[in-house]
Amino acid sequence: MLTISLLLVLAITLYQRASLKVTSLAILAVLLIWGFVYSVPYIHWIISAIILIPLNVPALRRPISANILGVFKGIMPKISDTEQEALDAGTIWWEQEVFAGKPNWKRFHNIPKATLTAEEEAFLAGPAEELCSMINEWQITSIDRDLPPEVWQFIKDKGFFSFIIPKEYGGLGFSAYAQSQVLIKINSLSPTAGSVVSVPNSLGPAELLMHYGTEEQKKYYLPRLADGKEVPCFALTAVEAGSDAGGIPDSGVVCKGQWNGEEVIGIKLNWNKRYITLAPVATLLGLAFKMYDPDGLLGDKKELGITCALIPTDTDGVEIGRRHYPLSTPFQNGPTQGEDVFVPLDYIIGGQAMAGQGWRMLVDCLSAGRAISLPSGATGGAKMVAYTTGAYARIRKQFKVPVGYMEGVMEALARIAGKTYMIDAVRTFTAAGIDTGEKPSVASAIVKMHTTKLAQDCAIDGMDVHGGKAVMMGPKNYLGRAYQGAPISITVEGANILTRSLIIYGQGSIRCHPYVLKLIEASQNENKTQAIKDFDKALFAHIGFAMSNKVRTFWLGLTASLFVRKPQSDFTGRYYQRITRFSSALAFLSDVIMGVLGGELKRRESISGRLGDMLSNLFIASSILKHFDDKGRPAHDQDVVKWSMEHCLYETQMAADGVLRNFPIGWMGKLLRLVVFPLGLPLSPPSDKLGRKVAKQLQQPEAMREELTHGIYKSESQYSNLFKVDKALRLQLEMEPVVAKFSAALGKKPLNHEVVSFAKEALDEGLIHDDEFKLVVEAEEARLDIINVDDFSKEEMSDTFNS
Ligand SMILES: Cc1cc2nc3c(=O)[nH]c(=O)nc-3n(C[C@H](O)[C@H](O)[C@H](O)COP(=O)(O)OP(=O)(O)OC[C@H]3O[C@@H](n4cnc5c(N)ncnc54)[C@H](O)[C@@H]3O)c2cc1C
Repeated sequence: MLTISLLLVLAITLYQRASLKVTSLAILAVLLIWGFVYSVPYIHWIISAIILIPLNVPALRRPISANILGVFKGIMPKISDTEQEALDAGTIWWEQEVFAGKPNWKRFHNIPKATLTAEEEAFLAGPAEELCSMINEWQITSIDRDLPPEVWQFIKDKGFFSFIIPKEYGGLGFSAYAQSQVLIKINSLSPTAGSVVSVPNSLGPAELLMHYGTEEQKKYYLPRLADGKEVPCFALTAVEAGSDAGGIPDSGVVCKGQWNGEEVIGIKLNWNKRYITLAPVATLLGLAFKMYDPDGLLGDKKELGITCALIPTDTDGVEIGRRHYPLSTPFQNGPTQGEDVFVPLDYIIGGQAMAGQGWRMLVDCLSAGRAISLPSGATGGAKMVAYTTGAYARIRKQFKVPVGYMEGVMEALARIAGKTYMIDAVRTFTAAGIDTGEKPSVASAIVKMHTTKLAQDCAIDGMDVHGGKAVMMGPKNYLGRAYQGAPISITVEGANILTRSLIIYGQGSIRCHPYVLKLIEASQNENKTQAIKDFDKALFAHIGFAMSNKVRTFWLGLTASLFVRKPQSDFTGRYYQRITRFSSALAFLSDVIMGVLGGELKRRESISGRLGDMLSNLFIASSILKHFDDKGRPAHDQDVVKWSMEHCLYETQMAADGVLRNFPIGWMGKLLRLVVFPLGLPLSPPSDKLGRKVAKQLQQPEAMREELTHGIYKSESQYSNLFKVDKALRLQLEMEPVVAKFSAALGKKPLNHEVVSFAKEALDEGLIHDDEFKLVVEAEEARLDIINVDDFSKEEMSDTFNS
């Protein structure tokens, strides 16, 4: 009985993550009380003393820690400088809470909601709308293969290149959320224009200048970038260095040369870059290269490392102008070369002092842009797919019913709606985080990878639902280009496979874990005494943390997390409980797997990818709850929130299942399953019934559909199809009661092509009014305008596609 009481107290303190001192005192209290009431056998006192005294007296346990430190150093690969810089970059935010096993929901609800200032609202309603009204995406993508000059000029004049530039330097100084809203609007209509606007506002000359530029560089370049006098690009990727950007072969050798008629110390640059967005039209080339000082003109160091410089493209020897053609999304993108281009040292961003600091600068500035540009493009694309596909499914009839009423199509519609909600939630949540000053490196990788993947899923489902309508290219096709262009976002700013396999969990497990980084840092400390002291502290805290996660994971699994305190009392309460449960499972599995694989985990991408999926889905699931809460918990969002949450949590469960099934040591995987899933796999994907409800709502021009697609370009304009699709849907719904009325009166139901002729018959027989007849004609015209596709003469085909 005493043993059971002791184990119970230990389990409770571990579950509550009590400190070692509190746990020891609780055990001592049990022994004393028990001794007072009954008697405690000596063996219990002895065992307790043997365990508790060394644990509580660091000087006694340090010899053990010193031995473990030796083993640890042997199995941990040395972290290179570039890896260390990447690991140190940015901040750690909510992702740490979901990684570490016990999310603090109070902190979560205190994260401020994303908002817009009046000025930002006015920009969205003014220049952003106006820009969209000028865009003819078919003309751009298929005929001109560029934005028209007046659109370029409008973009520059209205400050679309200056969202991130502070007002003091002539920029708009917008919040991350405002930038995101503008990019959503543009991308819902034109991924080409969206890319053009995104690039100067992402990682590139302006961002780097703001953080690292000299005052002189900032004063000269930022106002010129803000008003579009300079068109920037940033060239990192080289032919042989894509994902492995640290391996660029491009060089800058310090030497003496002539500059403005004088001999100065400068850099002779050679580069061969590709895939560089805006390079063909750039006036200012941000260049990353490796800097060498073989003659020691700057000091002792011969290899200074990656360096970033700004090179005006009219400098002798700079080659730009040729273009790549990225998947029929013809934003300006191309290669650039330079041979023996000599520039002075003050072309380095931040001047000579920043020579060799380029990698740190890049990884440190990556997060904000990565969390905004591509996720906003993905959000604009997914919302557009949801808006058009919901409408199309309702107005397109086959077998005498809207295709959107067929269960197979409803499955696709539910996925589109649910995934669009997920994308919108996670990009809004992360933008709000950035606006509070965070530079969340792991979260930005999660958001980039998952929003682009989910948007691609939506595009594929949207294409399926539209059938031939979306396959036939032409001015009437609003989906084809978004579908074609989806792989672009998948590839850039960290290709998705690499981001999933290496970055999210690789960086997440080190940065988000409360002790791993401390252990690594201690093990690399040259001061042996301090190393042992720090290592010992982190090691024993880590052991307590791991034991706590084991107890929590088992208990939360056994009780289906039903006893976890719910921060909300409605249907979302259960989801909070489940996030807490899987967060604990992630923390527990992470510790075990890191213990088993050590540094080898870096190469076991199938395992780390799945653990990354757990982390990502928990992060996205939290963001859905936050989004719903920030919106005021509207009733019309409930079904889509349920669908998205159930999808995310199911994916989390299956990722954990995948880790256990493929555990490197088979028997251990089976034992771990007893801890993580003591009652088997509890969750199912969203039910068909729920999916059908969501699918129906996507086809109704009511609150859920309207809010899900909020922020895209819905206005009436010459070239946009989005207004027309929605109008066709509204007219269709308005017309249907009229058709039902005259069908009943005539005693026959029209086929799709017979609606107008039957209506005419009904009008002639006085069964409907003139207004009702006009409505039928208008609705049918609108429907046919949408379901019809383009065709071209032989000449048009060759003119269009060979221009
Ligand atoms: C349209 C477009 C615009 C771009 N704009 C710019 C720009 O403005 N400036 C610039 O500098 N660059 C730009 N890029 C380059 C872009 O960042 C690179 O394409 C990207 O880094 C991937 O490199 P890669 O295409 O050579 O693919 P590769 O590096 O050859 O990768 C091929 C595949 O291998 C996977 N992979 C690679 N390493 C790993 C790993 N360790 N683990 C798992 N999987 C891995 C990748 O995920 C990918 O799926 C652009 C690219 C495109 C397509």
